[in-house]
Amino acid sequence: MNVLSLAKEPAGKSLAERRADFPILSEKVHGRTLIYLDSAASAQKPRAVITAMVETMERQYANVHRGLHWMSERTTEAYEEARRAAARLINARESEEIVFVRNSTEAINLVAHSYGRGVLRPGQAVLISEMEHHSNIVPWQLLRDAHGVELRVAPVTDAGELDMLALARLLEDGKVALVAITHMSNVLGTVTPAERIVRMAHAAGAKVLFDGSQAIVHRPVDVQALDADFYAFTGHKLYGPTGIGVLWARRELLERMPPFLGGGEMISEVTFERSTWAAVPHKFEAGTPAIIEAIGLGAAIRYVEEIGYPAITAHEAALTEHALARLAAVEGVRVIGQAQDRGGVVSFTLDRAHAHDVATLLDRSGIAVRAGHHCAEPLMRRFGVDSTARASFALYTTMDEIDALAEALAKVREFFR
Ligand SMILES: *Cc1c(COP(=O)(O)O)cnc(C)c1O
Repeated sequence: MNVLSLAKEPAGKSLAERRADFPILSEKVHGRTLIYLDSAASAQKPRAVITAMVETMERQYANVHRGLHWMSERTTEAYEEARRAAARLINARESEEIVFVRNSTEAINLVAHSYGRGVLRPGQAVLISEMEHHSNIVPWQLLRDAHGVELRVAPVTDAGELDMLALARLLEDGKVALVAITHMSNVLGTVTPAERIVRMAHAAGAKVLFDGSQAIVHRPVDVQALDADFYAFTGHKLYGPTGIGVLWARRELLERMPPFLGGGEMISEVTFERSTWAAVPHKFEAGTPAIIEAIGLGAAIRYVEEIGYPAITAHEAALTEHALARLAAVEGVRVIGQAQDRGGVVSFTLDRAHAHDVATLLDRSGIAVRAGHHCAEPLMRRFGVDSTARASFALYTTMDEIDALAEALAKVREFFR
């Protein structure tokens, strides 16, 4: 019996059988069946998501909220059902705390712009970490330059973990008003100790925003248990479509925050003198939203819920352990990041080979990995590299695919000897 069949969920379908839910996984690349190890950049989509989107367009499509006709009401109901699904997924107190945005990047920009300029005061500080994605660095630099807040950076240890002592020191003077930090690194795979971070930040009088772009794919997230203040994630990494993401925040914070974008859908009343805003969350959803994509995300969430996180987490932990062992056995491979608590993302370098060449050669074997700085240039500098190759896993990844990666990598190694 293999690990995949042990990961059977109650519904009876094993994760191995689930592969058939993803049409693209039977496509050929350079004459070989695709081995897709780039899910951390964007995950493939199950048929349930594709069908939900196609059916929306074919059978019940109209603009949402304003319509008084049957089609519009049906579409609005499906759109709002997706909001309820997102709330359920992260255990938000109420679905009104879910703001639909385009992606994690927009979610973080929304907070930086609205909460940053509207609530934070010049002289207060925002604390990020050394292992942030550019999406959780640049919005805070823009805020710093426009609004005079200080930007602090918590260091990462050689093992690729957050330096908790340094974090505590950076919080000590009470000037940090917001900690904006990743819940799981897209480069190192490190899962940060979210509950401890929240306790420390709250004790120092700071709110906490988690960039959950990676974490939510691999772990159950409960924003109430975490006691978080903001949580951002992006649909396309969670088996959903592009163009849709989620910002969750506590209702009282959303109510204090001024709008980010102005226009239709987000108003209560408009005159040329002044306008008033719609209730939360619509205040933050200006213009026609990504209706079809939100419905697709709702389907993705139901798909993940049906399988359940326990099966996904156990499967990916086994894959990661196997990958680390297999890669360690390939001469010249250096894995970046050895965190105790980690998810299914493995970054590595190969002696004398540029990561781009490694990725290009692996592609000849039909293996898709990512190579580059992974939108985390400061982290690359921290580890003294300019790029890495990265293999990342999903619920549909198999042990055989990891073996294929290790074997192909050993051949690439011969090439650069
Ligand atoms: C992918 C990713 C983002 C950005 O997601 P977008 O969908 O591009 O907005 C932010 N943070 C992390 C950790 C990511 O992995």
